[in-house]
Amino acid sequence: MVGTTHIHAVGFFVVGFMSRVKTAGVVFLLLYYIGSGLSLANPLPETPFDTSLDILTRLYAPHLVETKTRPTPERLYCGVEIQAMVEEAWSTMSPVLQQHIPDQFRPPQFRAPGPNDFRGIEVCDAWLDSEHFRVHYSTNPEHLPPGYPDLQAVRDLADHLETAYEFHRDVSGMGVAAADADYGGGQDLIDCYFYNLEELFGWAHVEERVEGLCENSYWGFMAVSTDFGFSDFSDQLRLTSEHEYYHLLQFAIDTFQRSWFEESTARNSEFLVWPEIATPRGAGEWAAHPYLPMWYGTGIRKYAPHLWFYLEAKHDTDIVTRLWDRCCHTQAELALVDELEALGSSLDAVLTEFAIWNYFTGVRDDGNHYDPDLQVSAVYHQAGHGEYPVMPVSVPDAKVAQPSGSNYIRFHGPASANDLRLTFDGKPEMAQDRAVIVLGVHDWGHRTWVLEPDQDGDVELVVPDWGLYEYVTMVVANFWDAPSDSASLHYSYTAEELDQAPRTTDSARLVMSVPNPFRSSTQVVFYAPTENVVSTLRVFDAAGRLVRTLLDEAVYSGRHQVGWDGKDNSGQQVATGLYFVRLQSGQDRYTGKVMFVR
Ligand SMILES: [Zn+2]
Repeated sequence: MVGTTHIHAVGFFVVGFMSRVKTAGVVFLLLYYIGSGLSLANPLPETPFDTSLDILTRLYAPHLVETKTRPTPERLYCGVEIQAMVEEAWSTMSPVLQQHIPDQFRPPQFRAPGPNDFRGIEVCDAWLDSEHFRVHYSTNPEHLPPGYPDLQAVRDLADHLETAYEFHRDVSGMGVAAADADYGGGQDLIDCYFYNLEELFGWAHVEERVEGLCENSYWGFMAVSTDFGFSDFSDQLRLTSEHEYYHLLQFAIDTFQRSWFEESTARNSEFLVWPEIATPRGAGEWAAHPYLPMWYGTGIRKYAPHLWFYLEAKHDTDIVTRLWDRCCHTQAELALVDELEALGSSLDAVLTEFAIWNYFTGVRDDGNHYDPDLQVSAVYHQAGHGEYPVMPVSVPDAKVAQPSGSNYIRFHGPASANDLRLTFDGKPEMAQDRAVIVLGVHDWGHRTWVLEPDQDGDVELVVPDWGLYEYVTMVVANFWDAPSDSASLHYSYTAEELDQAPRTTDSARLVMSVPNPFRSSTQVVFYAPTENVVSTLRVFDAAGRLVRTLLDEAVYSGRHQVGWDGKDNSGQQVATGLYFVRLQSGQDRYTGKVMFVR
């Protein structure tokens, strides 16, 4: 497990479907999730399932945990995860552990919390009405936020709820939540309970079915904690009230969408209403476990709003609302397919591009897709190689990319040869379901090759001049439908460096500077045509002044690579800007451009 996990305040909540039985009594349990899996400097656990089981054990059978390798999570994963986890793991659990599983999580029947389990009603003894909400609160000091005099926090919460309400009514197009069924508030106001939820940041809860809207429309009420356990109370209050209210908007459309869709779009909505304080999390989980589907419903992964950032950047910010509109009649994934088709795109195309985009979040800004100021997570990869040749490697069963998942395999130098040959050996069935994308990565950007496996599922690529890249990554993406036979998902790959014959040319050639633009250093590559010709490589600024002489000597014929660290001849860092690299080899002269940026 992670050794030195940093605990992050996540600032959102989890909806757990305790039952999918569509009765008036169906209720939801919302539990708090803490983003403890994002210490990206450390190896992540093998699978999220292991992580969850570990947390479950700590929560419900702490005496079984002998050593604590990281801080015990103070707050809970969401109900739906625990439920699914228990269901799956029940038969393998020891009787001792089984004994510690709370009733509502025990198979075969998962008991949903009923109205009498809802503590808010007994705790909250006062209320404050705003235009659309009734905020129920407690006058007991233990349920009042510390450091907030009088009822300021109650009034703040009511204001934040109205902000969310007006935003979604007037701007986002999500409309208004159904109000109300009624769960103790009445007067057509939406009930929000405000008290110390302890394990939770907040929750949303359905009441009765709404007739005449969509098939699965429900009234709902919500709860927000008075103690988030972190210092940024006022920010968390804003984000949480928005997040939970968004769940009520979702319930008014369709209460039975996947939690992945509910949570990631609720998180996305936090960025629309509170862009200055919302921070994205969870993309690192996709990258750390690329063999899992993007909409895999476990852990912080499902809170990552990045797909929606991407689609909003590519299309418009209404796209998520339009998807929810479609969810009145269909499931989210089908709504996504339909919506993309209406936009003249396709899920395959979008996921292919997003796989690349997602892979690079946190590494660099390619200028097209995302805001570099966003605090997105670093990237992990599936497997890495640094010695060649790489003999056929098969991806283990557990890590074969599931639908909408992908594998990332990284090839580092040494780049002792010109080229790198990659082979991908797949199965015929995967020819239509797979894309193999190869990325040559510089520290400023990447070059992309999108390969299409042939009818046998195989494909090969020779990456030219691979020493120019910091590393080369193969992204094996599996899109949409899963073949019924999972064996067809398997593949293997090889890698070898190729010592090709020197590229002889009649004249000298300046190939490129890599990376370009560059921040710390760049490699200038050129070919010399004949043996032992004096060659010079000089850098000039935009005004034509000589800045640096990189090379001035007789060189052998063939390929050469010379580094420039962005310093002038006196060792001073040059200013940001455009520079010219001029090669003179014998009578041949070539000039290339290179951009130095800070
Ligand atoms: Zn939520």
